[in-house]
Amino acid sequence: MRVVVKVGSSTLSHATGKINLRIMDSLCRVLSDIKNAGNEVILVSSGAIAMGVSKLALPCRPSDIPTKQAAAAVGQCELMYTYDKFFGEYNQTVAQILLTAEDVESDERRNHFHNTLERLITLGAVPVINENDTIATKEIAVGDNDTLAAIVAVSSGADLLVLLTDTDGLYTCDPRRDSGAKLLPLVEEITPELYAAAGGSGTALGTGGMSTKLCAADMCMKNGIDTVIARGSQPAVLYDILEGKGAGTRFKGKKA
Ligand code: GLU
Repeated sequence: MRVVVKVGSSTLSHATGKINLRIMDSLCRVLSDIKNAGNEVILVSSGAIAMGVSKLALPCRPSDIPTKQAAAAVGQCELMYTYDKFFGEYNQTVAQILLTAEDVESDERRNHFHNTLERLITLGAVPVINENDTIATKEIAVGDNDTLAAIVAVSSGADLLVLLTDTDGLYTCDPRRDSGAKLLPLVEEITPELYAAAGGSGTALGTGGMSTKLCAADMCMKNGIDTVIARGSQPAVLYDILEGKGAGTRFKGKKA
């Protein structure tokens, strides 16, 4: 099975903004194990800006573009260094791919991306993909990694997209505000009501939120790919997800 796993900044960092080493270690261990079992793994990882903010000891996530891009330049190094270290412990080789919207919109660049990705997988490496935040301004940015992960899943012909985040999945309404909120285990159709239930954006650390995840799931469903939204703090949840056991919210890909 080819699986694209996306992990968000809020999962990879503590509330202090510093790297959550336990989660990163566990994520790399589980992904390595899944790969050892014969699956193909592509990781889409956020965290560049969050880690740059922490490493540069900035007081908060910057709002101006040059500081954001500078933080991403520092943080992307830190991110890959940490992945290399943990994946290396499980005998895996990581490869960094940074993309912008321009890269996936142009046939020629998308082709190059595709060829590189396929070759990396053949060579046994774990591709780690992020937006190229140091050059991506509004006009050329995909903007959030949920969308980027869906683009990667569709263009690489993945069987499954997993969006690891800081909630257990999609709820009937916002569980932070309504104690009656219920987790939806299975979604076969994305309706306007679901978008309304998903609400707005995420945390102080990340960019996405539930609505970008729904758009990502929608894109994958239309291309026959299942998407699962699940909590990232326990990466072992990936074992259940790959076995098709109930975990998080599964969006069923439509059969052609
Ligand atoms: N590319 C951004 C980063 O690595 C994150 C985008 C997102 O959270 O969706 O910081």
